Amino acid sequence: MKIRIAGITPESVVDGPGIRLVFFMQGCVHDCPGCHNPATHDLTGGREIDVAELIDQLQEAKLIRGITLSGGEPFLQAEALLPLVQAAKERGLTVTAYSGYRFEELQAKTAAAALLQYIDLLIDGRFIQEQRDLKLAFRGSANQRLVDVMKSLQQGQTVAWQEANAW
Ligand code: SF4
Repeated sequence: MKIRIAGITPESVVDGPGIRLVFFMQGCVHDCPGCHNPATHDLTGGREIDVAELIDQLQEAKLIRGITLSGGEPFLQAEALLPLVQAAKERGLTVTAYSGYRFEELQAKTAAAALLQYIDLLIDGRFIQEQRDLKLAFRGSANQRLVDVMKSLQQGQTVAWQEANAW
């Protein structure tokens, strides 16, 4: 299955805990004023790549703690991303994802809900320029949440991710 990507960063320390392999998805519908990455908005931009090629990148990454799905809006391609997150989990890697949708909105979408089953940390919500705060870990504005997806799914309510309990 093909995935439309904007780019790949082999090792990042700012897109979730630890060193992470980051896949930037192409295409976003949220149009947040002040977006840090407007080049990723065009749904027909970037380039298409087979998901198998992205999975190959996992073999080459030796130092990473996990992968991060960023963007763009990763959940627009939720179905196509499933094999990638499954492969990451099989290799003992953690999965972080960004989304302009809130956790509860994603749960209501079938393909997004399926992808959530493999995500550990979700950074959710649109970027709001008036709430921009450079001191926040992993996110741009104070309205955005760090969601512990596994605990949230187990407990049936949205649970905040605690860095102290980080994997
Ligand atoms: S969701 Fe992210 S990529 Fe999309 S417009 Fe908002 S800040 Fe930009």
